[in-house]
Amino acid sequence: MKILNYINGAFSPPLSGECLDNYNPAEGTVYGQIPNSSKEDVERAVVAAKAAFKAWSITSLEGRNRILKKISDLLLTNIDRFAMAESIDNGKPIALAKSVDIPRAASNFRFFANAITQFSSESHESVGANAVNYTLRQPIGVVGCISPWNLPLYLFTWKIAPALAAGNCVVAKPSEITPMTAYLLGEICTEAGLPNGVLNIVHGTGKLTGQAIIEHPEIKAISFTGGTQTGAHIAKVAAPMFKKLSLELGGKNPNIIFADADYEEMLHTTIRSSFSNQGQICLCGSRIFVESTIYEKFKTDFIAKTKALKVGHPSEANTDIGALVSKEHLEKVMAYIDRAPAEGAKILCGGNRITVQDAPNGYYLAPTVIEVPSNDCSLNQEEIFGPVVTLMPFDTVDEVLGYANDVKYGLSATLWTNNLKRTLRMSSELHVGIVWVNTWMMRDLRTPFGGVKSSGVGREGGFEALRFFTEAKNVCMKY
Ligand code: NDP
Repeated sequence: MKILNYINGAFSPPLSGECLDNYNPAEGTVYGQIPNSSKEDVERAVVAAKAAFKAWSITSLEGRNRILKKISDLLLTNIDRFAMAESIDNGKPIALAKSVDIPRAASNFRFFANAITQFSSESHESVGANAVNYTLRQPIGVVGCISPWNLPLYLFTWKIAPALAAGNCVVAKPSEITPMTAYLLGEICTEAGLPNGVLNIVHGTGKLTGQAIIEHPEIKAISFTGGTQTGAHIAKVAAPMFKKLSLELGGKNPNIIFADADYEEMLHTTIRSSFSNQGQICLCGSRIFVESTIYEKFKTDFIAKTKALKVGHPSEANTDIGALVSKEHLEKVMAYIDRAPAEGAKILCGGNRITVQDAPNGYYLAPTVIEVPSNDCSLNQEEIFGPVVTLMPFDTVDEVLGYANDVKYGLSATLWTNNLKRTLRMSSELHVGIVWVNTWMMRDLRTPFGGVKSSGVGREGGFEALRFFTEAKNVCMKY
């Protein structure tokens, strides 16, 4: 399958004609070609976006709402096609793509279609000065959206939907590793009546295509989700041009379990928070800290449940753990596991590649649990981003708060306890952007989403996203 760029409402190959291979990670085989887009392709997209901006920025809110809701509806009408494409491209179980990824992408459009009609700005009467101030929230112009491979359409649309709702025109690049559903989205946008040039999707590598987007002087804001190192690079390139930046980066999230937690619910959810999407979610609780009074029991039960997970071909309905996204990523994750003995850590289960019947070259890895001797080893400090979690006991709130915060990342934390005072104190003292108490990854799209420290700057979600994708202008009138 050969995919194409979507520029000015039409599909086209890259100007150079150069293509890259697209792999099916479940099989370890090439199954398609994607454009290796250059600066010139990005330039075409920016020209189209600029030309479309004037009309789109003054399209009524009802008009934008109608088109974005239509895109949402069409995603759901085509859910089987999209879920299949996402699963083949990424290696995630088809059931997960169908129950989570594609419905969430549809929700992103529906949510922001409605949110923009509720978005308001402030006004102030300057009493005594006979003046009134009001704030206009105006679209920025052409904005860039760059997304990663782990939740391809889910995160791509999480950026595009608010950008479009707020009246911007977009030049977007999905990960070169998982471009398929972004490609299909172009078709749906045209069918929904999105005017030409309002959304432009340019495929290719970060180094070439992504770099051309972040360097382009006409792209005034960049919304990026991906690795911390790439985020730092983008910040450096964008700073001299004073671009607005939203950076959602890596995580090394603590999952903190107290003895008074509701045990069965905690155990079930901890399996999910450890291994969903092969552990390739920035929010996965990759460091598990367990109160020492229940540590041995938890260890036994958690290992038993981990071993019961079915690693299998993503197309099979009963697969729990599909393939990792690429050979390179599998090797990176394996390299962390190989370090365990040298760090004094013990592999309690998993740690090995798995051969799946009829797909001997797929990138499968057994879900892995590692007991670590301390929080300062690399297994507890660096983002592995695979089906690998570490275990460590603790005794006191102060001790575990120290472990949780002593890491360069600060995306999310999960707390399992029924003690109210402890919950309130820890929620306040954890250095993260999101705290879940007695649950994990429960999302309400109105809430702010993002991290602190090396997990990023800025917040997405709800009105935060609409604020990011608009410029505030104050008007002061004297009477
Ligand atoms: P990368 O940072 O490698 O890539 C993310 C995107 O940036 C891709 O589209 C990539 O292109 C592109 N890119 C790479 N280099 C550049 C560049 N110089 N200029 C512009 N764009 C560039 O991350 P991954 O795709 O490997 O994603 C995994 C990471 O994403 C993990 O660290 C994870 O924690 C993080 N993440 C964070 C989330 C959050 O909300 N905080 C949510 C999900 C993931 P290409 O792939 O084509 O090279």
